[in-house]
Amino acid sequence: MKLIGPVGVLGTADEAMYGARQIAMCGGRGIAISSRPDVLRPFVSEGRWVADCPTCAAGISVHRDWTVARCMNCGGIYASIDWPDAFDLIEMLLAPRPVRLQNWTDEIPDMLKAENVRLGLLMKEAL
Ligand SMILES: [Zn+2]
Repeated sequence: MKLIGPVGVLGTADEAMYGARQIAMCGGRGIAISSRPDVLRPFVSEGRWVADCPTCAAGISVHRDWTVARCMNCGGIYASIDWPDAFDLIEMLLAPRPVRLQNWTDEIPDMLKAENVRLGLLMKEAL
């Protein structure tokens, strides 16, 4: 991933550390960890891939290459994550932007390209 996921947000270098962090954060507060059937829909907020937790509405830091997403607030584990088909293109188009402008929810890549042109980050000839 070019943008930020749990490695940058939580300092968890791999999926095992991500799971251990959830156990530490939830277990310490007496919160049970359990699998949830909901499907997460990731988006990008200021350079970070996140998803809203369907159970508690907290932001969940998600990683494209990891098998599950873990809510550090309510203990939810989500195995169904609806990553965008254009994931790589979205990251490529957002990466050159200042972090505060690295945002994506459902824009098609052409919209991101046009915005990059307006920002002076991408020459029209490159499109
Ligand atoms: Zn939650």
